[in-house]
Amino acid sequence: MSKTLGRFDLAVVGAGIIGLATAWAAVQRGLRVVVIDRDAQANGASVRNFGFVTVSGQARASMWNRARRTRGIWAEVAAAADIPIVQQGLWVTARRPESVAVLEAFMASGMAEGCRLLTPAEARRRCPHLSAPNLAAVLESTTELRVESARAVPRLAAWLQDAHQVIFMRGTAVCGIEVPAVSTSRGRLDADRVAVCPGDDFTALYAEYLAGYPLTRCKLQMLRLADPGFRLPGALMSDLGLVRYLGYAELAPAAALKARLGLEQPHHLQHGVHLIVVQNADGSLIVGDSHEYAATPDPFSHEHVDALILEEFRAALGIEPPPIIERWTGTYASASDRQVLIGAPQAAVRIAIVTCGAGASTAFAIGEELIAGFLDTK
Ligand SMILES: Cc1cc2nc3c(=O)[nH]c(=O)nc-3n(C[C@H](O)[C@H](O)[C@H](O)COP(=O)(O)OP(=O)(O)OC[C@H]3O[C@@H](n4cnc5c(N)ncnc54)[C@H](O)[C@@H]3O)c2cc1C
Repeated sequence: MSKTLGRFDLAVVGAGIIGLATAWAAVQRGLRVVVIDRDAQANGASVRNFGFVTVSGQARASMWNRARRTRGIWAEVAAAADIPIVQQGLWVTARRPESVAVLEAFMASGMAEGCRLLTPAEARRRCPHLSAPNLAAVLESTTELRVESARAVPRLAAWLQDAHQVIFMRGTAVCGIEVPAVSTSRGRLDADRVAVCPGDDFTALYAEYLAGYPLTRCKLQMLRLADPGFRLPGALMSDLGLVRYLGYAELAPAAALKARLGLEQPHHLQHGVHLIVVQNADGSLIVGDSHEYAATPDPFSHEHVDALILEEFRAALGIEPPPIIERWTGTYASASDRQVLIGAPQAAVRIAIVTCGAGASTAFAIGEELIAGFLDTK
């Protein structure tokens, strides 16, 4: 038998946020962990996102609970790993009476922990720069956290390596798993358990198993705008988010809002455009996004889609968007029937794919679920 690259209690495939969160849950349970990723540095959804750890608006029950747990762990891990929390809280701005009805229903839903409704006057007092003339109400949530993912994810990996002895094998593709053998593009290693956290790659590992699920990809367009010259009071969303995030969209009044938006902003709905604006430590704004679904989406940023995002920015904030500094696209896994896929294609193997674009908000809870699945079930 050929020499192996090492023996581990757990091999994690994928160094995105789900893989790193799983590695963290494992080292806390005393496991010796290797994380393997085909890329030389993090390059997937986990570093292309807003870094917005969202609790309010997550779907009732399991997703909301995962987000609350994950938010708590993010706060602890960020402090320990020296990852700056660059923003806290969320403002959902509403410009229509139908949106206000959704926010009022949300306040009564039992999921409005740390939330309150602000009148337009209160909101303007707190942030005079928000000058949308038709602002009708703002939902303020104090729970959300935000990290700058492009820095936070590499720092989290470095901390797992330096402070918790997690081994990283980068530039290494995993081609096959037959526990304990893990076949990679650099040779074989051995692991008693394997957690596969492949993001939106459904064909490299367990393709036949994954073919049993209605998986596809979602492509998003993102922008970075120059510093507007003031600090936002928190992450910002608008009316369009209320028909997208299930914690709002599943409330009864959301149907009337969706009908009105269908008449007033059909192109936004057609391209899945809703508004999230977050602010970096240097003042620049990350603004998005759109949602286009395909097995292999095209890789291009379309100007008309960016224009829709900026139109909503203008309407929600009441200011001209600052100049665009950067544009990029990202993709994440999507499924029509679930928000998270956690499966066991073999006894000592788990696979975890977040299929609703909320991986940064739910990763640490999912990591704990995977490790508990290995260690706590007889
Ligand atoms: C533009 C955008 C904005 C978003 N905004 C937010 C947000 O604000 N808040 C939020 O909660 N979520 C957000 N999301 C969703 C979130 O980013 C994802 O749910 C999350 O990053 C998924 O993490 P992951 O680790 O599963 O995937 P990834 O980050 O894609 O990592 C998967 C890794 O697995 C590796 N891999 C796969 N197969 C193999 C193999 N066979 N061998 C070796 N390596 C392999 C890949 O190289 C990759 O590095 C956003 C997503 C996008 C694209």
